Formats: sequence, structure tokens, C-alpha cells
Amino acid sequence: MKAKEIAALLDEPACAHNANKEKSGCARLKPGATAGGCSFDGAQIALLPIADVAHIVHGSIACAGSSWDNRGTRSSGPTLYRLGLTTDLTEQDVIMGRSEKRLFHAIKQAIDSYQPAAVFVYNTCVPALTGDDIGAVCRAAEERWGTPVVAVDAAGFYGTKNLGNRIAGETMVQQVCGQREPDPLPPGIERDDFRIHDVNLIGEFNIAGEFWHVLPLLDELGLRVLCTLSGDARFREVQTMHRAEVNMMVCSKAMINVARKLHEAYGTPWFEGSFYGAADVSRALRDFARLIADPDLSDRTERLIAREEAGLEARLAPWRDRLRGKRALLYTGGVKSWSVIAALQDLGMEVVATGTRKSTEEDKARIRELMGEDALMIEDGNPRGLLDLVRDRGADVLIAGGRNMYTAIKARVPFLDINQEREFGYAGYAGLVELARQLCLTIESPVWDAARRPAPWHGSATEARS
Ligand code: SF4
Repeated sequence: MKAKEIAALLDEPACAHNANKEKSGCARLKPGATAGGCSFDGAQIALLPIADVAHIVHGSIACAGSSWDNRGTRSSGPTLYRLGLTTDLTEQDVIMGRSEKRLFHAIKQAIDSYQPAAVFVYNTCVPALTGDDIGAVCRAAEERWGTPVVAVDAAGFYGTKNLGNRIAGETMVQQVCGQREPDPLPPGIERDDFRIHDVNLIGEFNIAGEFWHVLPLLDELGLRVLCTLSGDARFREVQTMHRAEVNMMVCSKAMINVARKLHEAYGTPWFEGSFYGAADVSRALRDFARLIADPDLSDRTERLIAREEAGLEARLAPWRDRLRGKRALLYTGGVKSWSVIAALQDLGMEVVATGTRKSTEEDKARIRELMGEDALMIEDGNPRGLLDLVRDRGADVLIAGGRNMYTAIKARVPFLDINQEREFGYAGYAGLVELARQLCLTIESPVWDAARRPAPWHGSATEARS
């Protein structure tokens, strides 16, 4: 990828970071901070959930080995995406100049062995430095075997994980979207008073299958999801994204360039929303109806929201009694901060502080709206600082990413994993009930009392000495 193409991707007018900060494609890393992934990692994370594609990492074994299956995304069908495929380049391949040949054979092997809907080839540092033309190899392989082969040129040294997300999105818009028309609707589905509308969800990764809490609601409203980029997606669905009437940017700005470019190229309106917390789910459903401007859809949406919210109240009541007044320290990045705050407040909990390291100014404004002007925002989430805050603010639970789990456990603090590795889905109305259940399970677990008591041998040793 050329330097000016990278600069163009970093200069994303739809991203709030562009306005008053450097055009870095998001938070710049500080020396000593956990890097959180390179561009290759970002690109692979963004596209790996496309389930029927063979994802080949072109590079040394370390790139594939460190990134395989690191997102708890679920598929309702094919599982090919969970297979780690790599060209496994060694020094000998580099010295002998045979890495392009190796890639060509790897593509053939993937096609012969798995008959994938497409092959995605991810560039990494070594072949990018030695100047492999992966675009040319992919074109030649596609011509030879007739299966789409897409080059994702996001070598690690190009920049941050966020840049990798954007390169992945850009690759889909440039090379995949617009290649196919959506399937016709089954006969009899549409009536005069019930029209089907096509929509896309961008940045929805179906972590722990949480999107399946939301999909039945969209089905009921007659909103056909052409594609989720990329949770539980299929290659043929990505090809039809240009036909959606509305795009929703789900909760994360990782692929904001996709929403903007589909708007520019096909005039598709888009909005940003979240499926965490009852208020945000209802708002997202209303936003679909508002942008589609179908009065009948608006009526049905209001009826569905009224029914779901009433049902939710009844299901949440017992959990709310147990969670009311509990204090949570939330440390998660970006947009997720405000959407999870809203969900916790729905449960009657108090959020004593929240992480804002990856948040935009707009995200912070929403956090202040929810938590008040004096909201404590944490920019630096080092473990010691987080634990001090838990103690000083009297937090009952730390809600953070998996990397903070051992910190919390060592300090004997109840912990809930909110990031991509989590085991439970919290999206939608049903997801909020699951969130309440998981919070109760961790806060009320008897293990914390047992772990905080002095060890029995300490007691007897003290008695023996005295
Ligand atoms: S920085 Fe380069 S070598 Fe390291 S994982 Fe990323 S692509 Fe591979």
C-alpha cells in the first residue's frame, strides 16, 4: 500500500478525531503502553468473522499464531473462518525469493481442500518489506481457479490496529461490495401493509452470538439484514451491501469509513447506534424507522418497543432488586463506554468512573450526559490505578477487558469481562437480562468472601507464636 493511500485512510472526515487531533487513525500509542495490535491484527479482526472465507495470513508463523481466533465471534453456519491458515514464511523463503510462489500454492491448497466462497490474503511485515506483490498473486490465482481472491494489504508496520480496521473496510468497499444483487424475497412475504426493507450493520461482530438477541426483532419489523460487517457474515452478503436502504454503525467506529463511503457511492444514509441497554436498543430501532420513513414501519416499531420494554421490566425486576445501588468501575474503550453505562444505569447501578482512552469528544459528551458533569473519566488504565480507584470509590465490581481479569482476581475484586473475548452476549433486550445475571453471579459469588478471609495457616501460625 502506498504512503499516500495510508494518509488518505487516516484522514477520515466522519471521525471526530480528525477535527482537533492529529490524523492518526485514533489514539496514538505511548511508549510502554500495551500496543493492542498492529494494522494486520486490526484488519484480520475486522474481517475474520466472515465465516465462509479462507483467511490466509501471508507471513511468518508468528503473525498467524499470535492472532488466531482472538475474537469470540460466532457463526450460525460455516466454521472455515476458525481455521488458521498461513504461508508460514521462513528465512529460506525470503533468501530464495520464493514467498510469492508459496502464497500462490497456499491459495490453491485452500481452494482444493475447503472450497471456500472466497480467499482473503493478509499481508504482513516480512513480505511487505521484501516487496511481494500480493495483489498480482491474488489476481493470478483468481483467474486460474475462478474463486474470488482478495488481497488485504495491511502489513503491521503501516500503523495501528485502528488503521488496519479501516484498510479492511476500504478493501471490502473497493473490491467486494457491489458485485452481486441481493436474493429476491420469498413470494408472499411482502404485503401492501408490510414492506421489507434492506439494511446493513457495520461494526457488528456477533461476539458470543449476541447479535442473535437482536436479529429476531429486526425480522419481526421486516428489516432484512443484507450483511453484518462482519459478525456471522458470508462473502456473498458483503457483495450486496450497496443495496441497503440504511446502514447502522454499531457501537464501534472501527469501520466508519465504510459507512461514509457507501453513503458517497450509493447515497445510503447511516446512523451510529448501540444495542447495549434498553434505551439504546429502542433508539436504534426508531432510527431505522426514521431513516427509512415508512409510516407503517414506525407504527410497528413503536408497538414492538412498547411490548419489549414492558416484558423487560418484568424480567429485570428480580435482578434490579439485587443490583440496585451497587457501584461499578467501568474500564472499556471508545463508544462502548457510554453504551455500557446506559445499560448499567438501566439496572439501577451506579457507575463510579469510566475509561475514555479511546473515546472521542462526542463519546465524552454522551458520558457526561449520562453520569453528570463531574463524571470521573480514566485515561490511563494501568492496573495499580484501577485497583486504587476500586478501593477509593468503593466499587463492588470491575467491568473491563480480559487483560484486567487477573489484576482483579489477584486483588480479590469481583470482575466482569466486557470485551471481545467474553463468553456471554449482552446486546438487545434479552442481552440486558443476561448482563444482569452475570453481574449478580460475579458480585454475589461466595468465592470473594472466602478469598478475602485470612488463610487458615496464617491464623494458626499467629496463635502458635503468641
Ligand atoms: S507487527 Fe508485523 S510481524 Fe508483528 S504481528 Fe503485525 S504483521 Fe506480524
